[in-house]
Formats: sequence, structure tokens, C-alpha cells
Amino acid sequence: MPWANLWIGVVIMVEARDVLLRGGRVVTMVDGESERSADILVRAGRIAEIRPGIAAEAADVIDATDMIVAPGFVDTHRHVWQTQLRTVATDWSLLDYLVHMRLVASTFYTADDAYLGNLVGALEALDAGVTTLVDHCHILNTPDHAEEAARGLQDAGIRAIFCFGTYANAPRVPMDVPADPDWRFRAAEGLRRGRLASDSGLVRFGFAPQEAEAITIEDLAREIGFARELGAAAISCHVAMGPYDSGSHCVARMGEAGLMGPDLLFVHGAALTDEELALIRAADAGISATPETELQMGMGFPVAYRAREQGIRTGLGVDIVSNYAGDMFMPMRLGLQATRAARNAELGASGKAPGRISPLAVEALRLATLGGAEAVHMDAEIGSLAVGKRADIVVVATDAIHMTPAHDAVGALVLNARPSDVHAVLVDGRVVKRDCQLVGVDWPALRARFQRSCARIVAGARTVDAGEIEQAARRFWPHLA
Ligand SMILES: [Zn+2]
Repeated sequence: MPWANLWIGVVIMVEARDVLLRGGRVVTMVDGESERSADILVRAGRIAEIRPGIAAEAADVIDATDMIVAPGFVDTHRHVWQTQLRTVATDWSLLDYLVHMRLVASTFYTADDAYLGNLVGALEALDAGVTTLVDHCHILNTPDHAEEAARGLQDAGIRAIFCFGTYANAPRVPMDVPADPDWRFRAAEGLRRGRLASDSGLVRFGFAPQEAEAITIEDLAREIGFARELGAAAISCHVAMGPYDSGSHCVARMGEAGLMGPDLLFVHGAALTDEELALIRAADAGISATPETELQMGMGFPVAYRAREQGIRTGLGVDIVSNYAGDMFMPMRLGLQATRAARNAELGASGKAPGRISPLAVEALRLATLGGAEAVHMDAEIGSLAVGKRADIVVVATDAIHMTPAHDAVGALVLNARPSDVHAVLVDGRVVKRDCQLVGVDWPALRARFQRSCARIVAGARTVDAGEIEQAARRFWPHLA
């Protein structure tokens, strides 16, 4: 017993130890504040002080000299389960994605695959300084998949909203699929009452209805009502995907049906009308733009800046790691430069040249941090560096050849930095990455297990002749080129 008590005492002491980020260039993302030199003291998971010259002898010190200290990135939309399928979607349209990802590859995922995809995907996010993920999880082939996918996020130590997806995958390998056609709702209830019962834990319960534009408004109302009964922290819906939505104006119909609410998170949304944006604004709901997907797949132009400028809670997302890397540097950069290009082209069309550039890089950084937190109503706790907030922090080195010199910290983060520059990461005050290494992760061992899962899923998908599936999908979108 004395040994057990000693061990418990050691654990408590380690967990409670203060962390001091010393001498960094702090970018708080508090509106109106600019970069400044300061230390940050983290105590019991929260930011306790931000000022130069903090003396904290007993603290775990991270030397942030010549480094940029910023809020951890908030990714408001990712299908984390697709981590095993990195690079398969390189040249895909949304049709290809529907056929080969949603209707083929997903059907080979076991519950263990769902765990590994979410564990490795969340670790990839942390490695890149993403401290919060909204996981739109539509790989739930059985109830065990939900448990395991959520456990993967929890084991990684990331902050997340796990959005339980009700999309009806039909597995092609033997699995224990319940006979009850409503089993997904029962499984969601079980997850909510069990693993994700807490609203103050790092991983919270959220919901992702079936494709909102592909079901009736009555079915969508049933799903959203169910999510609200369970107290979902966010309800993630793909909407307004340009030519793919066939002018259905889903958000307008949701408004007419009385479904709008602050818990809704609308994803993509490039084709949202001004009236629909006004509905979202009035409901205090959020938007997640995923520039890489929208630009590649012909969904229209990323809505992020248009939404933000109308006062809507707006963040960015990576979306599919089957196609792009899981960091927020590229969505920031691509969304910003594409928006600048469009605005410049608009001026050019009227014979004018831009005398000033819009939007500014700081707006991109805001979307990727505080804006993301706002989009899911977590901005009281995370998204900026302020005394009292939870300590979700990224420390970015500037000594690499591509970061030297870094005269402007915001410019360095938005237009120059890479995941390899991420020196340290804190989630809820816990150091999950330091000295450019994830803490407590044996990547070679995990990689070997992960690669076996990757190979098996891809081998399974290759056995399927997708011709008929594509023909059926084409009937759903008769106007495809
Ligand atoms: Zn998505």
C-alpha cells in the first residue's frame, strides 16, 4: 500500500506541475492585440499569466526563445478515419470520392481500423499543432466502430468533438451489424451515456446526420431533434456544395422547417446564398470552410471570408486526410490566396488593379484558431491566449532555413511555416509535443500496426468492381460532366 500511495502521489504531482513557456513571441489572437514578447505560465490546465519575466522555479520550462507562441489550431471539419487512405484521393472528383471512399473503401473498415485511423489521425493533428478537431465520423459500420473511433481520439490526448455519423455504411467484410434498422440511434445513445457522457471531458459528443441534401427534411428533422435530445455539442452537416447540391438550398429549407440553431455547423457551404448566410447568422450557427476540397472538387469558392465578413462564426477544416496532409497551414494559405486571387480578378474585370490586398493574413490565422473555436461555441475556453483560458498552445520554431528571418510572426505562421516547425504543443495544459517529438508515442511500433491496417483496407477495396456503383451515383447527379 505505501508504494501504491507513493505512486498516486507522484502521478498527481506530475499532472499538477506548472508549465512555463519562456521568452516567446506571443501572438494571442485576442482581437486588437499584436505580437509581443512574453512568458506564459500554465497552471492546472489553464493560462495563469502572460507577461515578461515570470519567475516559476518549480515549473516545467519550455524555452521559446526565437519561437512563435500561438493558440493551438482548431480544425472544424475532418473525417479522421480516412488516415489509412492518405493519397488515394489525389485526383478525385466528388463523384470519385462518393464511389471509391464512401461506398467502397469504408466498407472494409473494422472497428480496430476505426480506432487506428482516429488515433493516428489525431496524433498527426497534434504533431502539426492542431489541438482541437471536429471529427465528422461516418465510418460507423457497427456500434463498436463508434466506441473505437472515439477511444482513438481519447487515447491521442487531443481536444475534440466526436460527431457520431448516422450514414448507413454497408460493410463487405463479416461484422456484427445489429438487425434493428435504428441501431445507429441506439449506439449513439450508448456512446453518449457511456464513453462520452461528460461535457467537460477533452472529447465531447457531437452528431453528424446523414447527407442533409440527400434525405427528406422530415428525416433530417428527426436526426437533428435526436441529436439535440442527446445534447450534442455540435451537429455537423455538409451543405451547399455548388453544382452538386442541384439548387436544393438545404439551409433555406431548414430555416422554413424551424430546424436552425446555434449547435449547427455547416460544412463547405460555397453555394450558400446571402439569405442563407443571414439565416445562419441569425441562428448563431457556425460554418466550416475546407478550401482544398472545395477548390479541387468543384464545390464552388470557399465561403470563409464572405461568411466571416457577415459576422458568422467561421472556421477552417482539413476535411479529408485521404487527400491532403492534416495540418492547418495549407488550408490557411490556400484559402487566403485563393480569396485574394478572386478579389483581384474581380477588380481586374472592371479594369482596375488592387492598390491594397484583401483579406489580410491575420484573418486567415483567426479563422484557423479563434474563428474555429467560435464556430463550435468553444471560444470562451479556447482559440486565443488569454488568462483563464484552457492552455491549448502551439510553439513554432523560426530557426529553419525557410523561416529565417521571421520579421512578422503572423506572416511566418500563415505563409511560411510547416508542421516540421512545430516545436511544442500543449493541450489543456499537458505537453503533448516537445523538442519536435510527440510525447509518449512509439511511432515505429504504431506505424507497423497502422500499415497493416492500411494495406488490408486498400487490398479489400481493390477487389470491388466499382462500375455499377458509379452508374448508380451518376443517376443521383445526372448533370455530371
Ligand atoms: Zn466532409
